[in-house]
Amino acid sequence: MFDYLIVGAGFAGSVLAERLASQSNNKVLIVDRRPHIAGNAYDHYNDEGILVHKYGPHIFHTNSRDVFEYLSRFTEWRPYEHHVLASVDGQQVPIPINLDTINKLYGLSLTSFQLEDFFASVAEPKEYIRTSEDVVVNKVGRELYEKFFRNYTRKQWGIDPSELDKSVTARVPTRTNRDARYFTDTYQAMPLHGYTRMFESMLSHPNIKVMLNTDYREILDVLPFREMIYSGPVDEFFDYRYGKLPYRSLHFKHETINAPVHQAAPVVNYPNEHLYTRVTEFKYLTGQDHPKTSIVYEYPRAEGDPYYPVPKPENAELYKQYKALADATPNVHFVGRLATYKYYNMDQVVAQALTLYNQLIEQGKNWKPQDSNGQTLAAVAAK
Ligand SMILES: Cc1cc2nc3c(=O)[nH]c(=O)nc-3n(C[C@H](O)[C@H](O)[C@H](O)COP(=O)(O)OP(=O)(O)OC[C@H]3O[C@@H](n4cnc5c(N)ncnc54)[C@H](O)[C@@H]3O)c2cc1C
Repeated sequence: MFDYLIVGAGFAGSVLAERLASQSNNKVLIVDRRPHIAGNAYDHYNDEGILVHKYGPHIFHTNSRDVFEYLSRFTEWRPYEHHVLASVDGQQVPIPINLDTINKLYGLSLTSFQLEDFFASVAEPKEYIRTSEDVVVNKVGRELYEKFFRNYTRKQWGIDPSELDKSVTARVPTRTNRDARYFTDTYQAMPLHGYTRMFESMLSHPNIKVMLNTDYREILDVLPFREMIYSGPVDEFFDYRYGKLPYRSLHFKHETINAPVHQAAPVVNYPNEHLYTRVTEFKYLTGQDHPKTSIVYEYPRAEGDPYYPVPKPENAELYKQYKALADATPNVHFVGRLATYKYYNMDQVVAQALTLYNQLIEQGKNWKPQDSNGQTLAAVAAK
C-alpha cells in the first residue's frame, strides 16, 4: 500500500514526492504518462551530444531564498543571467525595451533622463488599464507597441492583445537605463548538470517508486494508496464536466547547426516576421563547449500539449467551477500549473508544492515518525 499516489513528475509532483518520502517517511508512487521525469523542464543530450530543453527554454530565476536553498540540495548551479534580443526593423535590439533599444532603433543618443521624456511624449495614458494592449500603450505609446508587442502577442496567444488580460504584457518591464537582463530576480542560475539530473537526485530515495509511460487511470484500481496528489490538468481529472479549459500550445522545431555559434543572444524574438515567435540557442543557457550548436524554434498553436492557460475572464470563471469540484474531492490534492490553471514559473510551482507539503504536515495525518532504526513507530507498534 502506498501512502501517496503522485500524478506527474514535474516540479509540483517531484517536490512533494521528495518531501513526503524523505521528511515524513511516506511511501510514494509517482507516475507520469510521458517517458521521462522533470515535466516541462525535461532536458537531455541530443544525438549530437548537446544538452537541449525538449519543451523550450527553461530559465531559472527567483526572489525566494527558501526555494533556491531547497533546490540547492539537489544540484550545483551555474550563474546565468538571461538576455533577449528582438528583431525589429531589420535590427536586433534588447528586449525588455531599454535605453540602448531606443537609441539603436531610432539612431539617437538619448540619456536616461531624455528617454523618460521620450516615453512621456509617446505614451497614451489610459485611465483604466484592463488589457495587455492598455499596459503597453499606456507606458510606451502605440508605435513601440506595434513594433514589439502587438504581433508577438497575437502569434503567441492567437488573439489580439486588446482582448487579453493585462497580466500577460505586465510581465515585461520598460527601462530607461541600460540594464539588458531579462529578469532582475535575486537568484538567477541554471542547474549545473541540467534539470533532469536535478530531478533524478530529488527522486532517488528508497521510499519513492517512479513509474513512467503510465497514465494514473491505468493503475487506479490495481495499486492501492491512501491519498493522491494530482498535478495534471484539472478539467481532465473531472472528465471535462464543464467543458475544456482553453490552453495555448507550442510546436518545438529543434535543429543542430554545424557551427559553434548561431545567433547573438540566448534568445532572439521575432515579433513581426516568421510564423515562429522566438529562437533559443541552448549553449548560452548551459555553458556547454561543443563544436556544433543546437537551437529551437517555437511555433504557437491552438492544439497540442497544454502549456499556457489563456488569461481571459471567462476562463477564470470556468476554472472557478473546477476549483469548487477539486476542493470538494476528498483525499486528492491539486497542485502545479495544470491542476490550478495558473501561469506559474518553476519557482512558483516549487513554492506552491512546499506550501502544500507544510499544510499536509499541519493536518497531521501524514507524519509517520521513525524510531532510531528508521522504522515507523506504527510498524514498531505492530510487532
Ligand atoms: C515553453 C515554456 C517555457 C517555459 N519557460 C520557463 C522559464 O524560463 N522559467 C520558468 O520558471 N518557468 C518556465 N516555464 C514554466 C514551467 O514549465 C512550469 O512552471 C513547470 O514546469 C510546472 O511544473 P508542474 O509540475 O506544475 O507541471 P509539468 O511540468 O507540466 O508537469 C506535469 C506532469 O504531469 C504529467 N501528467 C499529466 N496528466 C497525467 C496523467 N493523467 N497521468 C500521468 N501523468 C500525467 C505530465 O505528463 C507532466 O509531466 C515554461 C513553460 C513553457 C511551456
